Amino acid sequence: MIDPGPDDPAHLDALSSALEGERVTHIFVTHGHADHSPAAHPLAARTGAKVYASPIAVAKSDIDLRVEADEDLGFEPDAFASDGARFSGPGWTLEAIATPGHTANHTAFALLEENALFSGDHIMGWSTTVISPPDGDMDDYLASLEKVRARDFTTLWPTHGPPILQPRPFIDAYIAHRLEREAQIIARLEAGDTRIPDMVAVMYAAVDKRLHPAAAHSVLAHMIRLVKRGRVRCDGAPSVARTYRLA
Ligand SMILES: [Zn+2]
Repeated sequence: MIDPGPDDPAHLDALSSALEGERVTHIFVTHGHADHSPAAHPLAARTGAKVYASPIAVAKSDIDLRVEADEDLGFEPDAFASDGARFSGPGWTLEAIATPGHTANHTAFALLEENALFSGDHIMGWSTTVISPPDGDMDDYLASLEKVRARDFTTLWPTHGPPILQPRPFIDAYIAHRLEREAQIIARLEAGDTRIPDMVAVMYAAVDKRLHPAAAHSVLAHMIRLVKRGRVRCDGAPSVARTYRLA
């Protein structure tokens, strides 16, 4: 079982009936978000399975503009699924692949027999992933996308959305989308903007203003990466309120 979901009695009953006749030995968790991990231990108690996840603890994002599920802050696995660790059973071998970015502890799981990847929220089938600092990290995220791209998987099975049957062009488009956003930010800096809200007003002019605070948080995620890479200077620790200029 991978990412059993929320700790909801009706949901757990549905899982139990879907699993009837099966023996559950391992429960893998991609990351500690409320729609992924809370059912792991209740399901383990019902099945006798062990829960496996990243050794990195679930951290709180500082975001009040909740655009994604809450963190499952108390979550801890029974055993670690560190990068490269392999787990196996009859007919299956799963390899843990650390894919930080969406969260620091995000881990995807490769099913080696099918050259397939259970990509969690790292790569979604229905939208782009939310990168919310400080737990979310855009620089790590892009590195994790390249790490997955290099593995040349045949199929990606995201936690949300349909399977991705042509991973390479899909991941290329995912990376291009982020780099395009980054180029827009650099263009605003070149145009003389120094504050994130001013950049957002131009970059997201076509978007409902109520979404601008969330957009500012997303620009901040890029800005942290640009500062880390030395392209941009900030007058302190990067935040939405700081001022930025090109290095
Ligand atoms: Zn998530």
